[in-house]
Amino acid sequence: MSWPAGVPPKKELQAALRREHPWLDDDRFGPRNVTAGDCERCGAEPRLVQTCGPQGGEYGRSCAAEDDWCDGHADEAADALRYLRALPGDADEVAYLWWLSTGEVRALPPRPRLPE
Ligand SMILES: [Zn+2]
Ligand SMILES: [Zn+2]
Repeated sequence: MSWPAGVPPKKELQAALRREHPWLDDDRFGPRNVTAGDCERCGAEPRLVQTCGPQGGEYGRSCAAEDDWCDGHADEAADALRYLRALPGDADEVAYLWWLSTGEVRALPPRPRLPE
């Protein structure tokens, strides 16, 4: 599949995404800092943080919880949860768009429509 006509080149799209969604610039959390894909717990949202506790994994904003980090990383857990809580409503869509722009995913997954 080729890059669709009329869509800005990937580099420009990435620059535009970072301009419009400054939360993408975080160097620890968000779609730039995890493996592209769905939340390992629910499979219905993008991964946004990497955790390290006994039940650790790469989780999205509605699944990551404080005890997903080990005791030694309680500070990181607090920062990550603060980051997730501050995300705007469209963050999940933007995360998938980011991975499209980097070529890490080829298509947006079909999603059930959530009640408004
Ligand atoms: Zn989840
Ligand atoms: Zn840890």
